[in-house]
Amino acid sequence: MALRKILTQGDPTLGKVCRPVEKFDRKLHWLLDDLKETLENAGGVGLAAPQIGILRRAVIVMDAQEQMIELVNPEIIHAEGEQEGWEGCLSVPNQYGWVTRPNSVTVRAQDRDGNFFEVSGEELVARCFCHELEHLEGHLFVEHTDGQLYSMEELDAMELEQAEARGPHRKRGKKR
Ligand code: ZN
Repeated sequence: MALRKILTQGDPTLGKVCRPVEKFDRKLHWLLDDLKETLENAGGVGLAAPQIGILRRAVIVMDAQEQMIELVNPEIIHAEGEQEGWEGCLSVPNQYGWVTRPNSVTVRAQDRDGNFFEVSGEELVARCFCHELEHLEGHLFVEHTDGQLYSMEELDAMELEQAEARGPHRKRGKKR
């Protein structure tokens, strides 16, 4: 396993459509292992192969139990509801935007040996499925924002201002 460099916005690789995985061999296992190690090191909740420069349809998503799910050739087969929230990306460091996503998503994918399975997620996990799968099409979350991006420091300042306007008893939201 090896840590890989995470490409950032502006790198042309992030704008390309990824090819399906056809061989479920040792090379794919290395890729998935590297994705997991790189994600763990970066402290994110999801990572897609193009983010480390590999144009193949493979992503890692952290589930609600903080287990890493390996998704090869994933497809969204069901989505419902709606959620709004701040979203960020390891390829767009310290920039967050307000993005609307489905609240519940089911994905069909293959595991590292080629076996098909389905997995469902809600809220943050559903958001992460949508976000990571879009990377495979060459899209970034910023395309869903109104162009307004904020740093974590700016978000904290905004949150504090709102909390003060609401009064001292209001609990602050969970930071991502
Ligand atoms: Zn991302």
